[in-house]
Amino acid sequence: MLLFTPGPTPVPEFVRVAMSEPTIHHRTPEFEEIFAKTRALLKEVIGLPEVLMLASSGSGAMEACVTSLCEKKLLSINSGKFGERFGKIARAFKIPNVEIKNPWDIPASLEQVIDALKANPEIDAFCIQACESAGGLRHSYEVLAKAVKEYNPEIMVIVDGITAMGVEPLDMTYVDALIGGSQKAFMLPPGLSIIGLSQKAVEKIQERDVGFYFNLKTELKNQVKNTTAWTAPTTIIIGLCAFLERAKEIGYDTIYHQTKARSLACDAAMEGIGLKIYPTIPALSMTCVYHEESDKIRKVLKNTYEVNIAGGQDDLKGKIFRINHMGMVGISEISWVVNAVELSLDMLGIRKFNGLANQIFMEQYFRVLKQ
Ligand SMILES: *Cc1c(COP(=O)(O)O)cnc(C)c1O
Repeated sequence: MLLFTPGPTPVPEFVRVAMSEPTIHHRTPEFEEIFAKTRALLKEVIGLPEVLMLASSGSGAMEACVTSLCEKKLLSINSGKFGERFGKIARAFKIPNVEIKNPWDIPASLEQVIDALKANPEIDAFCIQACESAGGLRHSYEVLAKAVKEYNPEIMVIVDGITAMGVEPLDMTYVDALIGGSQKAFMLPPGLSIIGLSQKAVEKIQERDVGFYFNLKTELKNQVKNTTAWTAPTTIIIGLCAFLERAKEIGYDTIYHQTKARSLACDAAMEGIGLKIYPTIPALSMTCVYHEESDKIRKVLKNTYEVNIAGGQDDLKGKIFRINHMGMVGISEISWVVNAVELSLDMLGIRKFNGLANQIFMEQYFRVLKQ
């Protein structure tokens, strides 16, 4: 069975092998060495001066960033389940929240953000997804972050890059916190979250000192010394270290370029066989197709062609299907997935199979790769 959901992604063999070693104790020079190496490698890929690793899924890092970096009022973008989550976190902690709510295929606009800032002078933090995974939507977070900082440089800019980190180069110029998770482009089991931090965010964290388990001040104090406040998820960190070393060897430029080629080619192939790409601005991390018979298509894909892809949630339940492009995905695998979608449409009597999807995919893939 091919796992092609946009998180969790499959764990490659070299990572599984690295994680199969006997468990080592987290308070040892051996683990500290691995932790130090992983921190350095993460800083390189994120492009921010500080980084923290937490034993939690991505939402834990979202919570830690909101509670640590927002005091007065949070501005969040809700163009899907994950953007909605920032608002839910704020409400859970009784932090006032202004939300910009859009349909799941529409990114936040500059005008909406500026209007919200003008109407709410207390806003001291801004949260957005680089990619809103609910509908595969790319927000222009870099443009919005710049506008927010130009409006008021004191506002903390928190970017959920869980389905963007490791997918494409991310501009960190106006970002204070970038959130990542182990189970997406880093191809690890779920259970580790990552937060890249600007110097300003580090200062804010030191000054505020909030929470207990997710107290980032406590984590900073420990992690700069290459240890963690609580028991570290050693196995996942060992896997992360192996992944980042391999990624560096291959080169991030190469990984980003190949991801882009797979993603654009897959979108083109789906459109080429008459399917509709759901988001108005598609993210590179996944191909998200709108189709009323998505659940039937997914069922045939899984039961007949051994391909597991994701569906939609809430209003989009049964209406979309999502194909992952995150991580080091073999061209032979994604090419089979594209083929299998076309075969499934044939089996369901939606469209006769003629191999067009794979033809378009191959042409576009190698065209983009040559650029
Ligand atoms: C996967 C994901 C998360 C994290 O969800 P968890 O289930 O807590 O790991 C957050 N934001 C986005 C955009 C995601 O895709």
